[in-house]
Amino acid sequence: MTAPLRTRFAPSPTGSLHVGGVRTALYCLLEAHGSGGHFLLRIEDTDQARSTEEAANGILRDMRWLDLLWDEGPGTPDQTFGPFFQSQRLDRYRACVQQLLDEGKAYEAWESREELDVERKHAEAAKENFRYRRRPYTADQIAAWRDEGRLPVVRFATPRKPVTVVDRILGEVTVDEDTVDDFVILKDDGFPTYHFAVVVDDHDMQIDLVLRGQEHLMNTHKHLLLYEAFGWRAPQHGHLPLIFNPTGQKMSKRDKARVAREKAREKAKSTGADAKTWTWLAEEAGIDREDLVAFMAKKHDGVSMAEAVARATGATLPLIEVNDFRRDGYLPEAIVNYLCLLGWSPGDDREVLTRDEMVAVFSIDRVQKTAARFDADKLLWMNQEYMKSLPEDTLLEHLGEWLDAVHGSPLHALDEAGRRAMIRMYRPRARTFEDLHRLGGFLFVRPTTWAEKQVKKHVLADGGVERLRATRDTLSAQEDFGADALAAMFQRLADDTGLGFGKVAQPVRVAVSGDGVSPEIQDTLAFLGRTETLARIDAFLVSLS
Ligand code: GLU
Repeated sequence: MTAPLRTRFAPSPTGSLHVGGVRTALYCLLEAHGSGGHFLLRIEDTDQARSTEEAANGILRDMRWLDLLWDEGPGTPDQTFGPFFQSQRLDRYRACVQQLLDEGKAYEAWESREELDVERKHAEAAKENFRYRRRPYTADQIAAWRDEGRLPVVRFATPRKPVTVVDRILGEVTVDEDTVDDFVILKDDGFPTYHFAVVVDDHDMQIDLVLRGQEHLMNTHKHLLLYEAFGWRAPQHGHLPLIFNPTGQKMSKRDKARVAREKAREKAKSTGADAKTWTWLAEEAGIDREDLVAFMAKKHDGVSMAEAVARATGATLPLIEVNDFRRDGYLPEAIVNYLCLLGWSPGDDREVLTRDEMVAVFSIDRVQKTAARFDADKLLWMNQEYMKSLPEDTLLEHLGEWLDAVHGSPLHALDEAGRRAMIRMYRPRARTFEDLHRLGGFLFVRPTTWAEKQVKKHVLADGGVERLRATRDTLSAQEDFGADALAAMFQRLADDTGLGFGKVAQPVRVAVSGDGVSPEIQDTLAFLGRTETLARIDAFLVSLS
């Protein structure tokens, strides 16, 4: 039995939660709960320009939807280590910065961003790495900068020595003494940088294990030097493998922009439309033309722009953010289960795991080092498994959440009984909730045409029309229009006529659905109700005459 571990997920609220973040949060939660410890959520909102409250709320909502509930963090009863928004912890960071200043382990630096950019460009041109090191200033220089209203940043006086990260997944990763420069710890707006705040908080919140994406690996050397400067014990670290998209690049929100651009170009080419000013597309999509031109020239990758372009061109954008999956009718249980297996396996061939099973068997020691490929078909398969197996009440709840996230589904109008009926009818074959209205659309719109092939095969042959008329009369006299009573009724007709159940049911199915496909006939008719069922059969019979 290991000691209880404290882990944390620490997203920056600069956008919405995506699959990579979900997997990190999940692994943190599983690792903590597997050891009997706590999983913390901390919102890293120190980048004033890019953080928004809306994004923070979106992350909390997505985490709750996925049932990735934190033991300590925003809104939990246990606030011992709070507050959990970094923007509310500024005094603590400033005190820690002051401590390093007092001990001579940090210093004020005065170069402006523009001056540093110029230096960086020079270094680039000379094919050198730009590394900031402490520079001497005279008192006069400092006074002049102060007079012109400049504010200093605080930089860490980085000790020049090799640093080794002992990573739980990747093993030892060492950098030499020139790699880490004197990085900024306090910006001129008085906010700490990510590197500084993350160390202070992970220490203060007594975090034992930091799990995060591999893109952070080279930051960890900086963090270790800060722990050392404070004389604090550093937590353990584990850097998770990247998630690749099907084309083998790092999966990112930018993929949406890429797909939208490709489709727009394709459309311009096939229709001969202008692909320079993009006026037609701006008009069709109802978006600002200049912004669109910038987007098409890869000046930015805005998700809302990509979505507007996709709507206008019919592009199918890849699913990346939690919101994409919710909107497309996926189940949170399936997403979590799928992501759990993306870069980790339980060591046997189990694929569908309950949360308890995940907690019991998960261990970061079996997380793979190399990138994992996101397989949308596998997720779809997983979703279908959960469609079949989750309790009806859970599906009902998720169906409500899905309907809150989409517009214009006929299912909006259904009461609870109607929604339950839809779930019962379609869960054996629906891959996502979208399939409910794709497959069950006919339930909401009375057919006006009937598939010729089906009509010929099931109605016009072997006295099908007479059978349908007889069944219609029986249905109209049927008092109980519930599914069980209807099933018994169809069985009686089948027995009386000596024909099979299918032979009796199929003409009715064609009449009410317009096609040969529907859920069980008794469920379909019970859902439609007597009046609608009879009206549909009558309309069909009229169409035959
Ligand atoms: N705020 C950082 C991010 O969202 C967190 C990285 C970490 O877990 O330390 O990338």
